Amino acid sequence: MSKFSAGLKLGDLNDFIAPSQTCIVSLKGVKKNSQPEKGVIRMQERVQTTEQDTAPVKVTLHDCLACSGCVTSAETVMLEQQSVDEFLKQVSSAEKAVIVSVSPQSRASLASYYGITPLQALKKLTTFFKSLGVKAVFDTSCSRDMSLIESCEEFIKVYKAQGTSNFKGQKRGFPLLASSCPGWVCYAEKTLDASILSHISCVKSPQQAMGAIIKRFACANMGLKVDEVYHVTVMPCYDKKLEASRDDFVFSIEGNENNEQAGTARFTEVDCVLTSGEMLDLLQGRCSDFMLLDESPLDRMLTNVDESGHLYGSRGGSGGYAECIFRHAARELFNKELSSPLEFKTLRNSDFKELTLEVEGEVVLRFACCYGFRNIQNLVRKMKTGKCEYQFVEIMACPSGCLNGGGQIKPRKGQSGKELIQNLETVYLKEVNVSNPYENPIIKGLYDSWLDHPGSQKCLQVMHTGYHTREKNVASEISNW
Ligand code: SF4
Repeated sequence: MSKFSAGLKLGDLNDFIAPSQTCIVSLKGVKKNSQPEKGVIRMQERVQTTEQDTAPVKVTLHDCLACSGCVTSAETVMLEQQSVDEFLKQVSSAEKAVIVSVSPQSRASLASYYGITPLQALKKLTTFFKSLGVKAVFDTSCSRDMSLIESCEEFIKVYKAQGTSNFKGQKRGFPLLASSCPGWVCYAEKTLDASILSHISCVKSPQQAMGAIIKRFACANMGLKVDEVYHVTVMPCYDKKLEASRDDFVFSIEGNENNEQAGTARFTEVDCVLTSGEMLDLLQGRCSDFMLLDESPLDRMLTNVDESGHLYGSRGGSGGYAECIFRHAARELFNKELSSPLEFKTLRNSDFKELTLEVEGEVVLRFACCYGFRNIQNLVRKMKTGKCEYQFVEIMACPSGCLNGGGQIKPRKGQSGKELIQNLETVYLKEVNVSNPYENPIIKGLYDSWLDHPGSQKCLQVMHTGYHTREKNVASEISNW
């Protein structure tokens, strides 16, 4: 029997959309026709409603850009739920089994800070977490392999439909835009229209893919029911907290006689997100010397560690989406096996790079990596004017990508930001074997025993998501950030 034999049946699962969290921000003091001072966001258009000037404006969590510029009560709730204090409360209460999934970017951030390898960092983290009472520590490079495979399948599907296809009921066209960065997704939903949103890949990010795997399937293999699990991720940015809070990632279990948990209960795929920096604070507060911690064996169930004990995973500090899909498309569509590593051509700046494949003198594949909002705005402008030639774009909100995420450990005294990024890029793959996601035995096991095959109906149900145009609201006033 496969080690991934199902305890939960997929037929028992049913997507569920939870109601939005809402808070009220009072704008009573804002006069309807007053001119805003320089630098003050103009609010009065929002208060000229039938309730007149005293009507409060509703701001939901969906309005949050995770910019830390303002804190609504919904944001406060979210931040309290996703804090080190809440994590410690959960482990000490022992009411639920706490499972932690560590991102490769956070692992690299800690490894760089302590001057060790990512493998050593993960092993020491495992020792630390288990000393607190955590049941298992996993690695989101593993779930990222599933996100990458699903993204490859999605790309081929759109390509074969020659740029348009009815995928999850939406008309799809090129370029397909990566979806793993919640900073970009959040920005797109609040400031761009449906014609751009329909280009965003429907595949869940590695964080949410891991949440779906653990809560909807793997917990049963650990002898746990879904409501007995508290799932924590360690991520490079605060935006991942916002991603975990999306209504799209809440699910319920459909009732049947075999399932005691069936009914109205709702479950989140990820309960708490800690940033790399918060992780460092926790380590410094709770253990006298991280370097003296033993290196525990890794939990292999959902960790990319091979038989000889080496970590493996995809290249690319932001997930390697462009490279992975490019290789797959070259192989599947043009029968070309590409050597490694691929050569990206730098365009306007180091955060805008291009990959092309030529066959008989003709460019047949044109991909790009586009990081930072300055480049994103240029790309969107090109899309709107019909001048974008790319078939796929790996979009990331942070300049330099996820290794430079806002939640990463800050540079040491005397170390510049540039030096830190260079160091992180080296450490990221130090003693980590670059691998093909399709060869990952854990992911193969998940498809065999749960999801059937890449791009299957089951995958569409649990590994894919959707996007929503948000009502233009307070946050969308900040349109030129
Ligand atoms: S690019 Fe930045 S905001 Fe986006 S997922 Fe990576 S770290 Fe988070």
